[in-house]
Amino acid sequence: MSPSKVASVKFDEFYNIIDGKQRPAKQQHYGVNPATGEKLWAVPVGTQQDVDDAVVSAQRAYEKFRFVPIEKRKELLVKFKDLYMAHVDEMTELLKKENGKPHQFASFEAGAAALWFDHHAKLDLPEEREEDDEKVITTRFTPLGVVGAICPWNFPIILCLGKLIPAVLTGNTIIIKPSPFTPYTTLKIVELAQEIFEPGVVQAIGGDDKLGPMLTAHPGIAKISFTGSIATGKKIMAACAPTLKRVTLELGGNDASIVLPDVDVKKTAPELVMGAFQNSGQVCVATKRIYIHEKIYDEMLKEMVAFTKTIKVGDQDSGALLGPLQNSMQYEKVKNMFKDTKDKGYKFAVGSPDVAEGKGYYIQPTIIDNPPNDSRIIQEEPFGPIVPTQPWSDEEEVIKRANSSLTGLGACVWGKDIERAERIARRLEAGSVFVNSFEKPTPQAVFGGHKESGIGGEWGKEGLKAFCNPVSRSLL
Ligand code: NAD
Repeated sequence: MSPSKVASVKFDEFYNIIDGKQRPAKQQHYGVNPATGEKLWAVPVGTQQDVDDAVVSAQRAYEKFRFVPIEKRKELLVKFKDLYMAHVDEMTELLKKENGKPHQFASFEAGAAALWFDHHAKLDLPEEREEDDEKVITTRFTPLGVVGAICPWNFPIILCLGKLIPAVLTGNTIIIKPSPFTPYTTLKIVELAQEIFEPGVVQAIGGDDKLGPMLTAHPGIAKISFTGSIATGKKIMAACAPTLKRVTLELGGNDASIVLPDVDVKKTAPELVMGAFQNSGQVCVATKRIYIHEKIYDEMLKEMVAFTKTIKVGDQDSGALLGPLQNSMQYEKVKNMFKDTKDKGYKFAVGSPDVAEGKGYYIQPTIIDNPPNDSRIIQEEPFGPIVPTQPWSDEEEVIKRANSSLTGLGACVWGKDIERAERIARRLEAGSVFVNSFEKPTPQAVFGGHKESGIGGEWGKEGLKAFCNPVSRSLL
């Protein structure tokens, strides 16, 4: 390893990282600890000049990095993993503060990053070969150039590294834009990366709402890898059209979970609840609609209510299972969903129609018993700890109901009759389907949505190709 450029890395000072150097800015902004409302550290607001400089540096680095053999790039990623893991405790603490996650979940996310490194270290992207009597065709996969990564606030570490690792493994250079709500872990991860990679290979720019459009418009960026809301995804696709950038869009979902009549009710109830309320419901693939067979509907709902009442909501170090919502905007959105649900007179099986206001953006987990199909709570992604349940009796009908959404990110089926569960699972219109588990994304499986939940996919084996151009060669 080259002599340390970041030996003195400080976890309470934050810079944009451009061309291998820390770059401060004239204008600063501040994150907020959502558990307390406390103002966090100053972070620079990136400018058009910062973006232009980062693109020049990334293009310069790309000319060399694209020819570094994949085995060498893997070695660099393994070294980077070691350096990152040496700082995993500091990352956990930053994540707790910027995002509000309870300690055990922040620690889980910070540590799970290792799985993304390990999975990608095993991958290759070999030339593919086809031949017939007339010709031999080979297809190889070459990097795209400079990738712009635009990230959300709900899993700041995994979603930053989940783009950085495959982009770099395939020989691209990358500029990462964290969410303005959670810039801290990303800026530090990228600062650490300077120890391992040449200037310009991995850069980060944080900022305000103006920054994302600067990346999507820039002609020097070849691809945008975006994770965030459907509404922003549509704007990004439109903004990338004039320069015909490649785009991968990982967007929102409204996942259905179908429960067969033969499940073990006591065992399944807590799993259904956690599928909906993990990370306080702020998960793209959280369970957002639960369809329970009518034979066990009342019993299952009773068990789910009983388990939900045991869930502790609180701050990062209180031993709570659920933390606050991450930001005031999201808190207001979810409160609005509660108001609509109350105003329409739907039944609260557990949870209060009136969100108790206080310090921190806390909302108690809430289950809505059998609202109508056209209700907002069925039709929209709340992205908070509120979930509807409905009964079903006919298999064809419930499959239709599950698929009657503009989104198609994840889905679950629960049942002892595995053949039946799999038969249903195969008919669900979603990118990731789980049988007898709630949604648990893993780096080993390609991840991407159908319909308005996205375009393309990342991770798994297939995900590497999202960062490449295919080049075919025919030999006659
Ligand atoms: P968001 O769309 O508001 O913001 C995401 C990112 O886009 C942020 O960095 C933001 O600054 C940036 N941005 C905003 N406007 C932009 C523009 N016009 N051009 C370029 N960039 C712009 O999303 P969010 O609120 O941060 O995240 C929550 C949403 O993300 C939910 O809908 C959730 O389902 C979705 N999500 C999807 C996945 C997935 O993998 N499919 C994973 C996590 C979250």
